[in-house]
Amino acid sequence: MRTLTTLLVSTLALVGCTTVEGTGRKQLNFYAPDEEASLGQQAYAEELKDAKILADNDPRTLRVRAIGKRIENAARQRYPRMGNQMAWTWTVVDDPKMVNAWMVPGGRAAVYTGMIDFARSDDELAVVMGHEACHAIARHGTERVTHGAVIGTGTEIAGAATGSREVAQSSAMVAHVLLQLPHSREQEIEADEIGLLTAAQAGYDPRSAIDLWRRMQSQSGGSIEFLSTHPSESTRIERLQALMPQATAIWQRARADAPAANAAAPRSQAR
Ligand SMILES: [Zn+2]
Repeated sequence: MRTLTTLLVSTLALVGCTTVEGTGRKQLNFYAPDEEASLGQQAYAEELKDAKILADNDPRTLRVRAIGKRIENAARQRYPRMGNQMAWTWTVVDDPKMVNAWMVPGGRAAVYTGMIDFARSDDELAVVMGHEACHAIARHGTERVTHGAVIGTGTEIAGAATGSREVAQSSAMVAHVLLQLPHSREQEIEADEIGLLTAAQAGYDPRSAIDLWRRMQSQSGGSIEFLSTHPSESTRIERLQALMPQATAIWQRARADAPAANAAAPRSQAR
């Protein structure tokens, strides 16, 4: 039995071992980037099929896309392997009660108006959007699906390893797994960290992250993405504080390189 387990584990490692861009963490992932992009597209369509999507010329859509473009450019520079093959689509959903945002594997994202209202500045919104984008950069969605397959039944392991991927049979199931199940704490911390550096490189003040995540933690009625499995406030804040000298240096360099672009962006929109 031990031999079988060893064989199984080493086979799995051969099939799907990859590294997370930006951190170098080893990751078990059964999906190739193009496969996960099509899963992500399915989940995105399913999740938004009944959503009230704001028009392309709505000021809130324009604001999110302007920030999104800067996040995208920074992520393409910092993490070119994934950044250059993602779709980078930002959709704004009109739902003031939903303090939420997400990006599916492959780079399609939604930001809810509740999140836009909650953020006190473009800097804060950029921190959230950088965090979401980095879940996709770090391929957390399919890592979670892979993990679910490994700890599931033998049939699921065999299915996932041979490519039948029983976990991903219907759009509803794909959307459920990718969008409704929480990320692990390790994934959240990783998205916080590489997301913070991305927002900083995009010219947004990384120091805004501290207050943002503090307020996010204490607000109730939030979404899955920002609730219980997110790291405890103290862990999260400590990790962000430790990263702040690096993030601030990146931010200052970005501002020096593109002062006009950054000055042109409104720093905050009062509610
Ligand atoms: Zn997250």
